[in-house]
Amino acid sequence: MPEYIDAKSILSPVRGGPDPFFGTLYSMNIYRGCQHQCIYCDTRSKVYGVGNLANIRIKKDAIQLLEQKLSKLRKKGTIGTGSMNDPYMPVEEEYGLIKEALKIILKYKFPIHVITKSNLVLRDIDLIRQIGKIYSAVSFTITSSSDDLSKVIEPGAPVSSQRLMAMRSLSQEGIYTGAVLSPVLPFITDTIENISSIVHSVSKAGGKYILAWMGMTQREGQREYYYHQLERLFPGVQEKYEKKFGDSYNCASPNSEKLYKQFRELCLDYKIDMRMNFYKPEVPNQLKLF
Ligand code: SF4
Repeated sequence: MPEYIDAKSILSPVRGGPDPFFGTLYSMNIYRGCQHQCIYCDTRSKVYGVGNLANIRIKKDAIQLLEQKLSKLRKKGTIGTGSMNDPYMPVEEEYGLIKEALKIILKYKFPIHVITKSNLVLRDIDLIRQIGKIYSAVSFTITSSSDDLSKVIEPGAPVSSQRLMAMRSLSQEGIYTGAVLSPVLPFITDTIENISSIVHSVSKAGGKYILAWMGMTQREGQREYYYHQLERLFPGVQEKYEKKFGDSYNCASPNSEKLYKQFRELCLDYKIDMRMNFYKPEVPNQLKLF
């Protein structure tokens, strides 16, 4: 049973935004904690102070606070969902707060970029389509082409093939959709076969873009949990991390160069963009004359 907590903020500005990869100017978080329980999750980092990731908290009066904020916000910019948790984790099915938030976003005509690992997003397809008259994008994070492996590294999330099926449904409905291929876990998912298979599957599912980074980041809090899971699930791999990365924040795959090369070639072949199209504010007619 989730607990209710006082909200410090529902919508926060993206530092130095808009974000160069995701195009977001604001970040929306209605829940705290995440049920998807990915073994590599950065939200476990001590710097965020989220505490136990598995402990789901709901921000009190989230929808009213969002409406207050959007009614006063003068600068239009893309609202991102999915930085500190997944907006479509199982609790959303019961509480429906993201759906309510989308109605408010539609009312105030803000653009959105949803990042998720869940096919539950299909429930809100009509709202996302309507917001799309301004701008909407739905990105599915896909880190492994194998459902068996995705079950191990992202144990609480729908498996990769379910995400790809959801991508296909959105694409067929004309919604702008693609994939985030990140993190790429060194010594686990950093193979040519995995990267190639993801690009191929995204193309088949009608994805228009893939945002990729061939590595992962690690910070205090996140690292300890991840290493504990590596020891349990991938014997011998933790030692490779310690030897290769020490306490580094950036942990790029040792195969990065050849993975990027393969990725770029396949994206060109399949005509998949390696960057997304962002929301562009409308220029008033008078200004167009100059
Ligand atoms: S879905 Fe995202 S926020 Fe949730 S556990 Fe996985 S990586 Fe963390």
